[in-house]
Amino acid sequence: MHKHICVMPGDGIGPEIMGEALKVLKAVADKFGHTFTTENALIGGSAIDATGGPLPEATVTACRKADAVLLGAVGGPRWDTLDPSIRPEKGLLGIRKALSLFANLRPATLFPELAGACLLRPDIVGRGLDLIVVRELTGGIYFGKPAGTGVRDGKRAGWNTMVYDEEEIARIARVAFEAARKRRKKVCSVDKANVLDVSRVWREVVMEVGRDYPDVELTHLYVDNAAMQLVRDPSQFDVIVTGNLFGDILSDEASVITGSIGMLPSASLGAGNPGLFEPIHGSAPDIAGQNLANPLATILSVAMMLRHAFSLDAEANAIEKAVHTTLRQGFRTGDIMEEGKTRLGTVEMGARVVENL
Ligand code: NAD
Repeated sequence: MHKHICVMPGDGIGPEIMGEALKVLKAVADKFGHTFTTENALIGGSAIDATGGPLPEATVTACRKADAVLLGAVGGPRWDTLDPSIRPEKGLLGIRKALSLFANLRPATLFPELAGACLLRPDIVGRGLDLIVVRELTGGIYFGKPAGTGVRDGKRAGWNTMVYDEEEIARIARVAFEAARKRRKKVCSVDKANVLDVSRVWREVVMEVGRDYPDVELTHLYVDNAAMQLVRDPSQFDVIVTGNLFGDILSDEASVITGSIGMLPSASLGAGNPGLFEPIHGSAPDIAGQNLANPLATILSVAMMLRHAFSLDAEANAIEKAVHTTLRQGFRTGDIMEEGKTRLGTVEMGARVVENL
């Protein structure tokens, strides 16, 4: 297979972790006989320095013509004093919008080798923690109109609108059902249908789409219950699908309980556009340029790219297996270091994963 990938290392530790991820990509290509060509593009602070803005037109063009996009991280104190409209993070929002990336997939996986860092009791995580939150990313209350602030009845007030139409709901539901088919074939749709009208339509449409996936089990939870179940017994979940606001909160909750944010990848997918794959952590300016960053979240983002953008499941599995093997061998970067383990730098960690492939 030949694919073309737009690579945006970004700021801070971005270039370091991306360097290792690309070595792993090359190793997978060699092992399985694929050709992946790459093209670098600027985003975030580095783009501001070079062009004056966080998302140059050339970057959007390069992303659009690629088969997939890999991103490191953006931002840093150097750009924190800039006007919010041209801050590095605007580049990220801009590219998600330009590529119409409406689905955000965030796995929360507990690496058994890192169980000590998990925030839940051993008997709870002993049952397993391997789920994925599929969050709608371009609709819902963050974008609904009307929205604004003003004075109502002589009092200061603010308002937003939570709105979803059936097309928006059906396309995110389909992403969730497709993801479940590649996993344990269970979808839990999260809403607030006992209170919100928008949720009643959500639930209705998700059930309709579910009829096209008779092999996937569909359940529903109210968001307050879902938040509770995530800490009470996360093993019950395979794929959680939900709207923008609930997904924002639940995906953070799900990933933080694993205790290893430096290990988790994410994918943002659109219809007919290349998907964007990135670690969930930021640019970690405090450790940038010191060979200290953990490259595993970015390496696992490459695995997500292979699985979700190119349907290369065996190749994705091979990367994930190599990461597990490396952890089992006792190798750790500083952020996941424990007593009795071997501490490695960014480059050395990347090299171990390549070796284990
Ligand atoms: P952060 O995720 O960059 O860092 C939080 C803490 O985790 C820091 O101590 C950092 O050293 C550590 N850390 C993060 N990733 C690590 C890794 N791979 N290996 C080892 N340690 C790691 O979050 P922050 O400090 O809140 O933000 C720093 C900058 O990143 C800000 O400018 C912020 O806006 C930006 N940011 C970008 C993204 C993104 O690009 N998607 C996401 C979050 C934050």
